[in-house]
Amino acid sequence: MKIILAKESGFCFGVKRAADMALTKANGAHVNTYGPLIHNPKFIDFLAQKNISIANSLEELTAEKIVIRAHGIPKGIKTEMLKRGLKIIDATCPFVRKVQKLAEEYEAEGYQVIILGEKSHPEIIGLQGYAPNSIVIKSLSDIPKFNRKEKIALIAQTTQNVKIYDEIAGHIRENYSNLIVADTICDATEKRQYAARELAKRVDLMIVIGGKNSSNTTRLKEICEKIVCTHHIESESELQKDWFVNINNVGVTAGASTPDFSIEATINEIKLFNNTFAGSKR
Ligand code: SF4
Repeated sequence: MKIILAKESGFCFGVKRAADMALTKANGAHVNTYGPLIHNPKFIDFLAQKNISIANSLEELTAEKIVIRAHGIPKGIKTEMLKRGLKIIDATCPFVRKVQKLAEEYEAEGYQVIILGEKSHPEIIGLQGYAPNSIVIKSLSDIPKFNRKEKIALIAQTTQNVKIYDEIAGHIRENYSNLIVADTICDATEKRQYAARELAKRVDLMIVIGGKNSSNTTRLKEICEKIVCTHHIESESELQKDWFVNINNVGVTAGASTPDFSIEATINEIKLFNNTFAGSKR
């Protein structure tokens, strides 16, 4: 059985930067992250061992230093942190920061901001803090009817599916004349989605590694499962030997919040299964 790792997988620039900032700037001191630094339970356990714990609200803070994660936070909460004299390590991904600025500018210029994304996702909660009147949609049918001349600005959560966004943008272009469509889907997401799609086409089975609550990992799973049998796992302990029976080529990919140690452990576990099959001359 051949195990092929997707050309682009695992930690993206923003997540790596946030993890590095938290680890280096904390320097062993007790630090809180505002919400989980990334959506990966294994990595959260690793951070806890380094004295970096999660506060899900200002009330839960136990440290004086706080890390803002790659997804960012609403403007109002950052202002409140500053008022309280907290030392902020702002690890908001620069790409997410760019979208926050765009959302704020468009709303200030009188555009109705429409965001393609998941309403409860922290990045969207953060973005809506910059454009409080924005509307979050999951699909075309969620867009309310506006006057044809309404000023509309369409943006997307950085981890959304490019194809779906383009379809929605195409439809909106046909119906509205006063329109901005911003290119806000992250390059890292696009590259991981493309690499996963291409790999899924040439294997018998795909394994997608990442937190079940990770939006970008879930997108990878959705893309792959349309092409080939796909399993989404959080850790190598979820792998089942019978998935690999009569499989010649297995593809592996991982979301932008999946640490390298998880990818390595998964590949090693699949290799162990492979050795068992070889030993039993299946
Ligand atoms: S997926 Fe892109 S936008 Fe999101 S944290 Fe990573 S680099 Fe930043």
